[in-house]
Amino acid sequence: MTAVQKVAIVGSGVAGLAAAIQLAKAGVAVDVFEAKPELSALGSGISLQGNALRVFDALGAWDDIRAAGYAIEGLNLRAPGPDAPIVAQLPEVKSGGPDYPTSMGIPRADLARILLEHAERAGATVHFAKKVTGVDARANNTVEVFVDDESAGEYGLLIGADGINSTVRDLIGIETKPQPTGMGIWRTFVSRPAEVETSELYYGGPVYIAGYTPTGENTMYAFLVEKAEDRFGISDEDATRIMLEESRAYGGPWNSIRADLEAGAHTNYTWFTQHLVEVPWNRGRVVIIGDAAHSCPPTIAQGAAQGLEDALVLTELLVARDAVDDELWDQFHARRLPRAKTVVEASVQLGQWQIDGNRDADTGGLFFAVAQKMAEPV
Ligand SMILES: Cc1cc2nc3c(=O)[nH]c(=O)nc-3n(C[C@H](O)[C@H](O)[C@H](O)COP(=O)(O)OP(=O)(O)OC[C@H]3O[C@@H](n4cnc5c(N)ncnc54)[C@H](O)[C@@H]3O)c2cc1C
Repeated sequence: MTAVQKVAIVGSGVAGLAAAIQLAKAGVAVDVFEAKPELSALGSGISLQGNALRVFDALGAWDDIRAAGYAIEGLNLRAPGPDAPIVAQLPEVKSGGPDYPTSMGIPRADLARILLEHAERAGATVHFAKKVTGVDARANNTVEVFVDDESAGEYGLLIGADGINSTVRDLIGIETKPQPTGMGIWRTFVSRPAEVETSELYYGGPVYIAGYTPTGENTMYAFLVEKAEDRFGISDEDATRIMLEESRAYGGPWNSIRADLEAGAHTNYTWFTQHLVEVPWNRGRVVIIGDAAHSCPPTIAQGAAQGLEDALVLTELLVARDAVDDELWDQFHARRLPRAKTVVEASVQLGQWQIDGNRDADTGGLFFAVAQKMAEPV
């Protein structure tokens, strides 16, 4: 007997679909409501750390993720300049344990497609173009969910996995909101030069960080992290020009990235944000997980991993227990808050050291400390 028999999930990002897979596999009736008309995943590629890969294994999706992505071991640091010399080759801590690569790069569209396929195969129903606009707690331990202002029925639980600008968070009266950290990022999806076999970062030069991560045999995503500016709404042409100009100081593989940009590779710009909702993340039978509950700059690429861990722990408790009670929420928060807090605080600190130009900061030490903590059981 599971703690709930019918669950509504808001959002079809990694957190929402991971929760849908686990609940549907356990025989729970699951409706996922997604505001977008179809699956879309902005931002080209993503790095999934070992602890995220471990969650995919628990979901039963690891084989598909492994086949679609590019396994990454270690991190190269390069210096600006025409030859972009490699100045350090850093081993990385396997945050998912010895059975998984250190991380995987994967196109975001493939990640989204794989999770959707698994959710539907498990029996979840994903409704696109359905925006959740209201929730109403009922006396009979159910929540009435409103989609596009009309009742979509009563559920034993509503999981708000609706991202950084979460509607569900607002609906249940949580006032914490994401704050800009002062950094903006340009991203593009390009071809992978054969010499790029792992993630590579460049510190120094005109931007805070330049880098790229392979996502497949022929693809990778590249990025430039700069001081946050009002770049929103600029034309594709201007976006390409800025990426070309700001990357000019970096040689080596950046020559190939620039060639792809000149040939029309798509660009994307966004700001980094941070927030951490104090527990409880639930109000009665409505709970937020993933970016709705916490966000951070991707300086250690742990945002999606944390959302996946939220989904795994919450669904494990919902399946193992026979009631949605205080003990369930206490266990959920005890297992999730410390890990999410560690990631948010370290990610923000790493970004701040860049903004401050702090050359004495122990960047590597903090990076390894977080990875070691993530390697502990979730
Ligand atoms: C520049 C950048 C780079 C990043 N790189 C990495 C990385 O390399 N590795 C990593 O682990 N993390 C990374 N992250 C973080 C990662 O992308 C997020 O943590 C993760 O995608 C959040 O997943 P989610 O499921 O919580 O939310 P989302 O993916 O945002 O999904 C929320 C969904 O809810 C839907 N929705 C919203 N409101 C409603 C509503 N009212 N009704 C119905 N649907 C609704 C949205 O349309 C959306 O599809 C990065 C973030 C940024 C900004």
